[in-house]
Amino acid sequence: MRLQIDEHRCKGCNLCTLVCPYRIFKPGKQANRRGVVIPELDRPERCANCRLRNLYGRTLCGTCQMICPDQAISWVEEDAHVPKKVAIEY
Ligand code: SF4
Ligand code: SF4
Repeated sequence: MRLQIDEHRCKGCNLCTLVCPYRIFKPGKQANRRGVVIPELDRPERCANCRLRNLYGRTLCGTCQMICPDQAISWVEEDAHVPKKVAIEY
């Protein structure tokens, strides 16, 4: 699972930066085209839900998603790791 913020929904209220026990959300530094400063994600792979949701089959923690007033936080499935052949020319 991968944590993501929907930039079209987020209004930069920073509530998510207050609640995450791992401090994954950090206040953003730059405004986007709409003038909204969207939080940055600091090593989002540490999120309990990203790591353990598939193992337990349900949302774990999820506090950030619950507190977000604009439903801007979600998780997406990541593609399974597919090894690629790399040709090296000498
Ligand atoms: S689900 Fe919990 S641990 Fe994961 S980013 Fe949200 S608040 Fe942090
Ligand atoms: S709580 Fe939601 S709307 Fe507020 S900054 Fe975080 S993602 Fe954006």
